[in-house]
Amino acid sequence: MIVLVINSGSSSLKFQLRNMTEHTIMAQGNVEKIGLPMGIFTLKAGEIKVQKELQVANHEIAVEMVLHDLLELEATGLHSLEEIDAIGHRIVQGGDSFDRAMLITDEVYDKIREYGAMAPLHNPAHLKGVDACKVLMPGKPQVAVFDTAFHQTMEPAAFTYGLPKHYAEKHKIRRYGAHGTSHKYVSHRVAELMGKPIEELKIITCHLGNGSSITAVKNGRVVDTSMGFTPHEGMLMGTRCGDIDATAVLYLMQKEQIDAAGMDRILNKESGLLGVSAYSSDLRDIESAIAEGNQDAKLARDILIHRAKKYIGSYIAEMNGVDAIVFTAGIGENSKETRADICADMEFLGIAIDAAKNNVRGEECAIHADGARVQVWIVPTNEELAIAEEAEQLAAQL
Ligand code: ADP
Repeated sequence: MIVLVINSGSSSLKFQLRNMTEHTIMAQGNVEKIGLPMGIFTLKAGEIKVQKELQVANHEIAVEMVLHDLLELEATGLHSLEEIDAIGHRIVQGGDSFDRAMLITDEVYDKIREYGAMAPLHNPAHLKGVDACKVLMPGKPQVAVFDTAFHQTMEPAAFTYGLPKHYAEKHKIRRYGAHGTSHKYVSHRVAELMGKPIEELKIITCHLGNGSSITAVKNGRVVDTSMGFTPHEGMLMGTRCGDIDATAVLYLMQKEQIDAAGMDRILNKESGLLGVSAYSSDLRDIESAIAEGNQDAKLARDILIHRAKKYIGSYIAEMNGVDAIVFTAGIGENSKETRADICADMEFLGIAIDAAKNNVRGEECAIHADGARVQVWIVPTNEELAIAEEAEQLAAQL
């Protein structure tokens, strides 16, 4: 079976064509700056890389270009669009309606649109990708894979805010979590690597990238996660503030006469590593600045480590233990210093990593010290594969 994975954003569209039977990536790439005067189209198939700069007026044209070049370029191995069996779409917000991937029927489509009110930058953009595929490949099964679905197993005590009930219910304000596809993938994968059924394990997955979230997975079900109503809550991130006293936000708005849009920009685009360091949102830059003695950069990184420890500790309490901690995404997979600092001074909890084993980047491997009670792993995330597998499963049932 061949599956096209699409991650459609407001001005970009990432894609991957996978042969599920042969476990190969036939092609992958992205279209950037859709709707701007000059766009960028990149496609890689095997050793061949195509890059073009040209105007891409909208998402339908972007998908058209992708399909055209997938067929045109011999290295992709695709001869006809008929060979594509299903399309899997990443969908950021599935609200409380979807606890699993869904075939995109009219009802599912309408729900994704409805939840666009809570994810205005994402859901409408995802639907543009769905619309484009519908026009260009009519009748082809399209599957929605929700970032929120895996977190739907949380109990009300974990997902409910202390707001008045009528407001929370009227506006569907609760914690939904995010990065669910990644947390699901790495938790299942680590269980496989440990050779134990996930139903018997307590796992904490740390997805640390530009956006970061930490999730507690007990017996295969999410019991808590650090992101909330939106992907803002929780960890200090590249440009996102994460946990903050809501009253401090109101206070700042009053003091500086900032409106809602302005405050949203500050919290999501100007805070986090970037805001605290006043230097960069990228951890590599922060680490270089620290090496040169930049104290603000050091504080930014210290907050990230502190908060990760706080979440891990609270999730161990919530699950009454932990069998494995998993690191994934840009920082989790690549920064040995971050992994080491997060896991430092937690011997009391049975957590200790081995410096030599931890001296790796982007490899699937165990890094805990011999004899440590808790296993610690690096599992590179693979959201595209996870989306493709969900699409394959649903399409196979048709
Ligand atoms: P996104 O959330 O945008 O998918 P990524 O998962 O790619 O982000 O993570 C990006 C983050 O990973 C950046 O902060 C980057 O600095 C960090 N990162 C990537 N490689 C390294 C490295 N070798 N050392 C430290 N941080 C790294």
